[in-house]
Amino acid sequence: MTETSFDVKTIRRDFPILNREVNGKPLVYLDNAATSQTPQQVIDVIVDYYQNYNANIHRGVHSLSQEATDAYEAARIKIQKHFNIAKSHEVIFTSGTTHGINLVANGFSSFIKEGDEILVSAMEHHSNIVPWQMLAERTGAVLKVIPMNQNGELVMEEFYALLSNKTKLVFCNHISNALGTINPIEEIIHAAHNIGAAVLVDGAQAAPHIKADLQALNVDFYTISAHKVCGPTGVGMLYGKEEWLKKLPPYQGGGEMIAEVTFEKTTYADLPHKFEAGTPNICGGIGFGAALDYMNRIGFENIASYEDELLQYATEQLLAIEGLKIYGTAKNKTSVISFNIQDIHPYDIGTILDKLGIAVRTGHHCAQPIMDFYQIPGTVRASFCFYNTKEEVDILVKGVERAKNMLL
Ligand SMILES: *Cc1c(COP(=O)(O)O)cnc(C)c1O
Repeated sequence: MTETSFDVKTIRRDFPILNREVNGKPLVYLDNAATSQTPQQVIDVIVDYYQNYNANIHRGVHSLSQEATDAYEAARIKIQKHFNIAKSHEVIFTSGTTHGINLVANGFSSFIKEGDEILVSAMEHHSNIVPWQMLAERTGAVLKVIPMNQNGELVMEEFYALLSNKTKLVFCNHISNALGTINPIEEIIHAAHNIGAAVLVDGAQAAPHIKADLQALNVDFYTISAHKVCGPTGVGMLYGKEEWLKKLPPYQGGGEMIAEVTFEKTTYADLPHKFEAGTPNICGGIGFGAALDYMNRIGFENIASYEDELLQYATEQLLAIEGLKIYGTAKNKTSVISFNIQDIHPYDIGTILDKLGIAVRTGHHCAQPIMDFYQIPGTVRASFCFYNTKEEVDILVKGVERAKNMLL
């Protein structure tokens, strides 16, 4: 990595929040797997919208409405290009990953029948477990779990053993938010398609690190949230293959999603509007597009190699602390480190780190089954973004040592 391709000092200047202090100390923000920070370039786009062309989209004849519609639809095209999606109407704006998954789970009620099987990986976020449980309860389908091993990797032999002609759907995250594991989704998609099952990949944690080519992956559905890729909260995208989106019933009824309404019968609008009832998060969608622009300017290869360097460095430094155990040691992983020190409660470590200005996550990270698997109440999770530095890793390590000395 050369200074010219990636200069973290310059990049940090784009993020005004990184200059603030917390509890009298410079902020060290290591909770990027929960949400990423927003660069000035994206904040400017959001402010510009409210200052200059705030209007409802798709309906107005007036100029502001047209400008807002153009900007919103331009963002859809940016998302389409970013993920190499064949058609722009395969990009559905949602309020985030959770919304996207619920939309698909709800729609599948029409296709799933009693006795059908749905496979879910053992390392899913609750947002990719609960909607399927609800679907299984409604339909009488059976939810089966693809197990994982101690390293936090899916046991692929077990996955193959679970696949059968009863399998209708497979759900897996691309990257685990609790462990950082990068799952072999190419292989999963291929095997599931061979037996005629559809695959939804939760890309929420992958999107900040990997630029997925959705046509090459040949995935049926892929969901992400803008706030994990330096964009605003409350907006995300659901990708669905056109053939699926045409088949799925609408999720919510309302304005914008209809072609014609009478009290006897309503016909639905074409894609993508069929799934976009009501006034969307217009400003959020535009900010989402700007966030992808920003990350693409830095370059995903630069991001991945720099974050990998941070991950290696932080892993080594943390493991040097006696009694510290890292959960999630997959060969293929991204810049998330979940750890505990002996039987100190993660919350206590997190509280002391916060006093030192260091933001980490503690708890089950919306993935309780993983914690049950390891028989722990939770972990401390430090997750790194391309704007973090080795100096910040050093501050974290010192902080963790201090917490250990205070608590043991
Ligand atoms: C953050 C996250 C979600 C949930 O995203 P929301 O923005 O809260 O809808 C789902 N899955 C994974 C893997 C995540 O990291």
